[in-house]
Amino acid sequence: MSDMPLNRDEFNWQLPAEAITVRIRWFGLCMGYVLVNLVGPGTSQSELNAILTLGAVYAIVDTYYSLMGRVFLRKAPLFISLMEALFIGLLCHFDSGLESPFRFYYFLSLLVCAIRYAQLVTFSTFLLHALSYSTLAVMGSADHGSPWRTVVLMIVLMGWVAWASTALASLIKTASRRLSQLNTELKENQALLEERIDERTRELQESQALVVQQEKQAAFGLLAAGIAHEVGNPLAAISSLVQMMNRRDLDDYTHERMGMLDEQLRRIQRTLRELVDFSRPAKNETSLCDVHEALDAALSIAKYYKRKKGKRIVTRYDEQSAPVMAVRDQLVQVFLNLVLNAMDATTEGGIIEIKTSAHEGVLRVTVSDDGAGIDRSDQPRLFRPYFTTKSTGTGLGLFVCRRIIEQSGGRIELTESSEDGTTFTVSLPLHEIPGQISEDADRSGELQSVTSPPISQS
Ligand code: ADP
Repeated sequence: MSDMPLNRDEFNWQLPAEAITVRIRWFGLCMGYVLVNLVGPGTSQSELNAILTLGAVYAIVDTYYSLMGRVFLRKAPLFISLMEALFIGLLCHFDSGLESPFRFYYFLSLLVCAIRYAQLVTFSTFLLHALSYSTLAVMGSADHGSPWRTVVLMIVLMGWVAWASTALASLIKTASRRLSQLNTELKENQALLEERIDERTRELQESQALVVQQEKQAAFGLLAAGIAHEVGNPLAAISSLVQMMNRRDLDDYTHERMGMLDEQLRRIQRTLRELVDFSRPAKNETSLCDVHEALDAALSIAKYYKRKKGKRIVTRYDEQSAPVMAVRDQLVQVFLNLVLNAMDATTEGGIIEIKTSAHEGVLRVTVSDDGAGIDRSDQPRLFRPYFTTKSTGTGLGLFVCRRIIEQSGGRIELTESSEDGTTFTVSLPLHEIPGQISEDADRSGELQSVTSPPISQS
């Protein structure tokens, strides 16, 4: 017995077909009760009612299965046909034999069979029904003379109905299969289209974010150059005046104070120079860069960040040089962003550690902090444009970092984040300098780290 649920995609025509057959069955039963109890000759009424009630029990089970989205005895269609042949044969037998109106049920049964099952089952059912009807003729032949003309006519009609209904059903099934195939293709195309739209939207958003970032940087560069010019010139004048006055014959106290003044003025000038250096229009040429130099340049800018106070930056550089092919200013931008983010994440007394190591032609730079970490739910969105948790953040830092590093053939990823801190790792392909390859291989990637003193301790 099979009462398996239907796979709605594969057999999507079967459930509506099942609903139709259930209705045909109920119609047949109701008609049967009317014929037996209201219209019929009134003989063998109790036997006929009993047979119809058996049929009604079967119809109830069938209806229940149909409502549950299943087909009752789906894998035993010939058994059902056999039962129906017997059921109709008995109805005819207890009614008026070959002439009974119940003989038309054979047609209904064939129609239902053609809707539900394959052609072969319908034709086998036709044979069973032909046999059932012929048996009636054999059993009733003594009473009615030669019934074979009626039998042959009925069998021809049954054959006709079987053929016509299987032809129509197979047409419907083919159309339904084709429709469901087209529907699947449509769904696939729709999914593909949606995926492409998402991809294009993301690309558009990313390039827009890049333009915004570049415009901001350019504006910042102009502003910084303007400030450096406006402040730098009077500063240079004051500095030379101080130096001139200091060359005069002054008492020790004034001489010392003038020296201190000069030193502070030079410090301001140095800071201005660094600001201008950092914000000048970036060169976009790829060249051989030393990653350690780029890291130091980033740290020399990071020391001016207001949140640097009370935090320690520790560097552990691989003792070998770290040459990579990249745009140097962009590398500085990447490392600066990682360090600034680390500073934002840490509280006073926090430690930020920067490590480099070379292994199998790849240079790894890790920037770790002991800050608050990144929420697990935020992690998938880190490198997307405009993702920020800071009130004054732009959410473009990590996104731009990823673009820059990927353009240099490298990778940037969040390698660790918990409530004890966060580590970002930048991997870049090392530029092979002839003669250094075997030496690198010998070291087999072991980090021979040196601890350089913190660049500044606030
Ligand atoms: P922004 O700094 O403008 O917010 P970023 O793209 O640089 O943009 O960073 C995006 C977000 O990633 C930050 O808002 C912060 O929530 C998170 N983040 C980045 N680095 C760290 C870090 N080291 N520790 C904790 N959170 C971080």
